[in-house]
Amino acid sequence: MFIPYGRQTIDEDDIQAVCEVLRSDYLTTGPKISEFEKTVAEYVGAKYAIAVSNGTAALHVACLAAGIGEGDEVITTPITFAASANCVLYCGGTPVFADIDAKTYNIDPDDIKRKITSKTKAIIPVHLTGQPCDLDAIHTIADEYNLIVIEDAAHALGAEYKGKKIGALSHMTEFSFHPVKHITTGEGGMVTTNDEKLYERLKLYRTHGITREESLMLNNNEGGWYYEQIELGYNYRITDFQCALGISQMKKINKFVERRREIAAEYDKAFAKVEGIITPYQAEGCKNSYHLYAIQVTNMPRKEAYDKLRAAGLGVNVHYIPVHKHPYYQKNGYSDVCCPSAEALYSRLISLPMYPLLTDEEIEYVIKTVKGLGGL
Ligand SMILES: *Cc1c(COP(=O)(O)O)cnc(C)c1O
Repeated sequence: MFIPYGRQTIDEDDIQAVCEVLRSDYLTTGPKISEFEKTVAEYVGAKYAIAVSNGTAALHVACLAAGIGEGDEVITTPITFAASANCVLYCGGTPVFADIDAKTYNIDPDDIKRKITSKTKAIIPVHLTGQPCDLDAIHTIADEYNLIVIEDAAHALGAEYKGKKIGALSHMTEFSFHPVKHITTGEGGMVTTNDEKLYERLKLYRTHGITREESLMLNNNEGGWYYEQIELGYNYRITDFQCALGISQMKKINKFVERRREIAAEYDKAFAKVEGIITPYQAEGCKNSYHLYAIQVTNMPRKEAYDKLRAAGLGVNVHYIPVHKHPYYQKNGYSDVCCPSAEALYSRLISLPMYPLLTDEEIEYVIKTVKGLGGL
């Protein structure tokens, strides 16, 4: 038996949807792209959405659209996938790590404030596991210092902050459609925004910096064939068959999130009184969409717990190694970063299996195995 920590849910209707596009005229730059964008934008309540080739590309174009470049500092959390900080480096900017709130695992607004300098241009909060960050506090700081907020919501499709879906609450929000995330397109990502100007820039950076819109052209439009490259962009397009999969998956998003929350409730109940386990904190007014269910192991070394759970067939994992601890960051000026809460949390974290297809029997096995750990 092996139960992974996460996996996709693909049904026959998903397969049908992809096959239909494969038989159609457009494999890429066809009608499924905007249909998928519209579906996600409507779901999260945003005016605009841009689908791209993956979540990392989404973060990159969001940083470009925000105008991040050399000399700019961007504050993010160390407890995240490296892409949340790498996207700043891609633009020539400097990621700055603020420590986390030990209770929520998310970036601590007080430490954001301490890390602000005259060079700070943006904040990239990450809704770790699907638990929304303290957005009110983050927006207050952003307003005060005139900063752009790009939410990394790779974990948070379907999550809610004070009754509103994550996806339209900041300047831009990024989603990922990697198979372990809430919905999948294989690889895929999206940026949502309510700002038309940002939307236009995002579109440019997705396709080489090329435009066919006359209003954006710097020279005279020479004719029907004519287009202009006005920025240095990329080919970050997603295909139509991927978007067909995304549209089909979005029909089930409420079911997916519901099932994840059900599983989390089972785990919460089972581990509430188990000594040596801290279950995830529930932030008030927030709805966690549980991309991950991460516990803290407090009375045995995490490695011992990890090895035992793996040996029992649980594909547990650790999310994440603090970004500044990676050798690339260590040798590029981050060796004296001080984020004690992040490092303490990292030493105790374990992600348990969490995905909609987990059966009740599998959940029971996870609970029994975790409870049965010697010393836990
Ligand atoms: C998955 C993920 C991303 C984007 O990943 P892609 O694999 O490029 O889609 C970004 N940030 C976080 C926190 C993630 O978990």
